[in-house]
Amino acid sequence: MKPAPFDYYAPETLPEAIALMARLENEGCDAKILAGGQSLMPMLAMRVARPDALIDLRRLTALNHIAEHDGIIAIGAMATKRAAEESTLIRERQPLFHAATQLVGHRQIRNRGSVGGSFAHADPASEYPAVALVLDMEMQAVGEGGERLIPASEFFVTYMTTALEPGEILTEVRMPMLPAGTGWAIQEISRRNGDLALAGVALTLRFSGGLCADARIAAFGVDATAVRLTAAEDALAGQKPDAATFARVAAIAAASLAEPMSCIHASADYRRHLIGVLVERTLAEAAGRAR
Ligand SMILES: Cc1cc2nc3c(=O)[nH]c(=O)nc-3n(C[C@H](O)[C@H](O)[C@H](O)COP(=O)(O)OP(=O)(O)OC[C@H]3O[C@@H](n4cnc5c(N)ncnc54)[C@H](O)[C@@H]3O)c2cc1C
Repeated sequence: MKPAPFDYYAPETLPEAIALMARLENEGCDAKILAGGQSLMPMLAMRVARPDALIDLRRLTALNHIAEHDGIIAIGAMATKRAAEESTLIRERQPLFHAATQLVGHRQIRNRGSVGGSFAHADPASEYPAVALVLDMEMQAVGEGGERLIPASEFFVTYMTTALEPGEILTEVRMPMLPAGTGWAIQEISRRNGDLALAGVALTLRFSGGLCADARIAAFGVDATAVRLTAAEDALAGQKPDAATFARVAAIAAASLAEPMSCIHASADYRRHLIGVLVERTLAEAAGRAR
């Protein structure tokens, strides 16, 4: 299929893009941001989305940065996933985000798809929202009213819906460096390599006095948005990091899912089972990295 007709704009600067969004909105025009097009273009082609106008951000090179400042890593919304994958800063200082990036689609998709596009798209099966919850990431949004930072726990509202207001552009995502000694892991089950996950788990784990002290665990692909598995996190606190603990906590994680999604590829029961398996595996993997 071919997309329905739309007007096309490619502003040169962020202020120009924001003013354009505001003007089009005032005119009652349904305008959408175009970033890498890896999710939006198929939606246009299938006419799942029929915006009146597209605002292409590809000329906003100021949003391509990957930088360290004030102890955090900041990634511009238009940096490609491939750039994140190739970044030494991310690989060395935030290996969980790096590993998550390598799980996104295929290299061709990571070549074009932007980091910001995945956050704004908010697919519940996407790796980044779960990692954002685990790492307490912050999203920078800019609109006519100015700039604001939105914590990950508030950014992902529900299925493909974020806290971005009409007229706001996601400009940057921010994450802490992984503290030394922190274990981490991300694993997923998908039908084919590169497909979106049927279910996945991302986590970080720290030890204190040889016992589990601070675990942050999130699941993706099972609910309308990524979810923290707080019952499992609580059950880990003060426990010995051994196979028996991980099996018990995995069972608690699986049981804590309220109502996993169900679709033609995976029933709710199967997804619940997968989360149990993945929590057990990722805890063992993260424990091997934690000191
Ligand atoms: C075969 C295939 C496999 C894939 N597998 C995975 C996978 O395993 N994991 C995964 O996470 N993703 C996967 N994807 C999706 C891919 O990661 C997309 O790149 C990503 O979802 C969107 O990024 P984009 O830059 O292409 O955004 P676009 O497609 O251009 O935009 C997506 C949405 O976000 C909005 N948007 C984009 N940027 C901004 C911004 N800066 N501010 C406000 N709104 C914005 C757009 O308006 C649109 O609604 C896959 C895609 C394909 C085609």
